[in-house]
Amino acid sequence: MRKIIAGILVSLSASCFAAEEPNVFNINKMIGRGMNIGAALESPNEGDWGVTLQEEYFQIIKDAGFNSIRLPISWSTHAQEASPYTIDPKFLKRIDWAVKNTMSRQMVVIINTHHYKEIYKDPNGHRVRFAAIWNQIAEHYRDYPETLIFELLNEPEGNLKAAEWNSILKDGLAAVRKSNPHRAVIIGPANWNDIKQLNSLELPKDDRNIIVTAHYYLPFKFTHQGAPWGGDATKAWLGTKWMGSEEEKRAIKKDFDEAAQWAEKNNRPIFIGEFGTYYKADMDSRIRWTKYVSDEAINHGFSFAYWEFSFNMGLYDRETKSWRKPLLDTVIPPKN
Ligand code: BGC
Repeated sequence: MRKIIAGILVSLSASCFAAEEPNVFNINKMIGRGMNIGAALESPNEGDWGVTLQEEYFQIIKDAGFNSIRLPISWSTHAQEASPYTIDPKFLKRIDWAVKNTMSRQMVVIINTHHYKEIYKDPNGHRVRFAAIWNQIAEHYRDYPETLIFELLNEPEGNLKAAEWNSILKDGLAAVRKSNPHRAVIIGPANWNDIKQLNSLELPKDDRNIIVTAHYYLPFKFTHQGAPWGGDATKAWLGTKWMGSEEEKRAIKKDFDEAAQWAEKNNRPIFIGEFGTYYKADMDSRIRWTKYVSDEAINHGFSFAYWEFSFNMGLYDRETKSWRKPLLDTVIPPKN
């Protein structure tokens, strides 16, 4: 008899608990239309690339109508190289400051690990350190509201190919789940979070609090024309336009349709965590492309975060302290 009562209690509490679990699809809706604040916290040291976060940036982004902020973060340059891989407490305080400045303005905040160059080169050599870093981040933020979201790793690349990534992501996720059993965690496929590689991504089937991310920069010759980090080849792409022809649109729509089919089949929400154009592309093409990609993302039920606030793909001009309004309007449609 006691056994039966205990059994009933366990299943009752399990079902109550299940009802309290956050619905990851709702959380993804709350991400909605987001903004990456790039070139600040993911540089080796904040300020190295000329961007130091200011409190006003959070308000400017909020006032423009964004629902969320993705903060790319270089933890690997702020954690010990050897065990126990302690994160620099001063850096953690700075991240707290940025997280609080987002949450206090009722925006969702996503924190990731970005530019973890050593893990791209030597995945297995950094497997333990990667999990140890996440262990500390997750422990630190365990009591934060569900509107703080973790993203395991930006754009796995190099030697961190699908097979290695599928294995290492499990360790990272397990480290998070020890202290944050239900928090939404964002994970994307290998090959720079390639939207065409969703099929290569293996996620623990019983973890339903995962949002899947993909980045979108296609056609690359248009979005990355003249971008120095793409090498000399990008110079030859200068002048590439995006006219919004039926053929150009079809190519993007096909990628999004296929991602949506994958999402449906796997019952996972999708977040386009980065998309944007380098400033050297002509403004009219940038406006056309950004509008088409944002609209398609929303039409497919995806959330997104534009890359990025105010650096070389930026929507905001820090010099004149003003938005590039026609470009901003493509991402956040004006109210009237
Ligand atoms: C990289 C940035 C780059 C952007 C577009 C991001 O993930 O961190 O450095 O500007 O992708 O290529």
